[in-house]
Amino acid sequence: SHSGNVGPYHLAMAKAPVLTPRADDFPRWYQDLITKAELADNGPVRGTMVIRPYGYGLWERMQAEMDARIKETGTQNAYFPLLIPESYLAREADHVEGFAPELAVVTHGGGKELEEPAAVRPTSEMIINEYFSKWVQSYRDLPLLINQWANVVRWELRPRLFLRTSEFLWQEGHTAHATYEEARDFAAHIHRQVYEDFMLNVLAMDVVPGRKTVKERFAGAINTLTLEGMMGDGKALQMATSHELGQNFAKAFHTGYLSKDGRQDLVWQTSWGSTTRMIGALVMMHGDDHGLRVPPRLAQIQAVVLAIKGDEAVLAKVRELGDRLKAAGVRVHVDDRTDTPFGRRAVDWELKGVPVRIEIGPRDLENGAAMLVRRIPGGKEPVSLDALVPLLPEILEEDQALLLRQSRERRESRTTDVSTFEEAVEAATTGGWARIPWAALGEEGEAKLADHAVTVRCLVTEDGSVPDDGDAPGNVAVVARAY
Ligand code: AMP
Repeated sequence: SHSGNVGPYHLAMAKAPVLTPRADDFPRWYQDLITKAELADNGPVRGTMVIRPYGYGLWERMQAEMDARIKETGTQNAYFPLLIPESYLAREADHVEGFAPELAVVTHGGGKELEEPAAVRPTSEMIINEYFSKWVQSYRDLPLLINQWANVVRWELRPRLFLRTSEFLWQEGHTAHATYEEARDFAAHIHRQVYEDFMLNVLAMDVVPGRKTVKERFAGAINTLTLEGMMGDGKALQMATSHELGQNFAKAFHTGYLSKDGRQDLVWQTSWGSTTRMIGALVMMHGDDHGLRVPPRLAQIQAVVLAIKGDEAVLAKVRELGDRLKAAGVRVHVDDRTDTPFGRRAVDWELKGVPVRIEIGPRDLENGAAMLVRRIPGGKEPVSLDALVPLLPEILEEDQALLLRQSRERRESRTTDVSTFEEAVEAATTGGWARIPWAALGEEGEAKLADHAVTVRCLVTEDGSVPDDGDAPGNVAVVARAY
């Protein structure tokens, strides 16, 4: 049971491990954590997923933060149908070739075979372009900036909860512009001002912004921008992508407009997406042997106030403290389920990664104090109830910064600069990333990386910015195993 005289930074849950230790078996630890933190279950159809309320709460916070950033760019939300006439998909050759193997197709409706089968959207370029070509007449209709929050289906061969599911939730942005330059700049703007900003400042995730090689581009794009994160085991995860589509879809769908000087032109387009994969990234980036650690700015519960025992004075105090914290702007949850043993509830919150626990029992009341337990740096110490309220926002910001710092330190310490193919493979197959001059690797080297289950995650310039030209001298390839 709880005692008031535990020294500061005494480790909270040093008992038998609840999860498979991360160092023993990283994939099993990941599965374990998702189950025990009540994030998700496997769905009945292979590759599908049930997102449980705590997991869905994380997604709702991601949506809220992302949606605000997307709207800041002038983009509006809309909704297009789930089902796409199969014939639309054939209109852009690279696109259909890329997506055909992953397609789910509806052939029957109401007990009858359909005249034209309908594809369940794997992405919405096709159906959105059909409507863009109706909506865009002149330069006055441009730019057209649309985002959709939806589910999509891709029949994945090697599914894994959150990281790669057959059905996933995402946002997909689709835009049309008058010029190449404008479309290029908009794709770059989304890449940095929406995705990177969200990942750094809300998810507390170190990410590398870069440009995909031709081989790794989105099917139908002329350029793909990516953000790559290093997970706890040193593998890479593609966190979000922003594509320049050029005029490929405009040609296929005749999406044209009358320019200011009276010429008929095709639009230039972008598309960009981020998905529930980010929840998997959260686990793999910030999780530890005790469970998840949720960055405070993301957390739907930033602090939980726990009643250790069900006596009236304690219950009154936790509720009062809950109200005071809420008034101070903290997203707080009061845990007064004292019919469940305190130790079990504490372990549950630990698994769920709530940044701060405030535990109050009868003995603490006598002292006018509470036990403050910090999930992110670890440790617990008694704090006076009066000091707690002003202290909390400070602590949360400190923890937010710590998570970002830890993820950056991991990536920096596990990235090796190399000059040969062999060294790159060595670094990428021993729990880290390699950086190799693109000139020393090239498309031939890139093709050979596949024999080692290694890929080029992205190209960056020598000083780490995003190259305008994939083949510019001085470009560096970031090479890794990836999820
Ligand atoms: P794409 O439309 O292929 O560029 O995909 C957009 C983003 O979706 C990618 O950057 C990935 O992070 C993510 N993604 C792709 N496939 C899946 C999947 N099966 N499950 C979850 N996320 C995915």
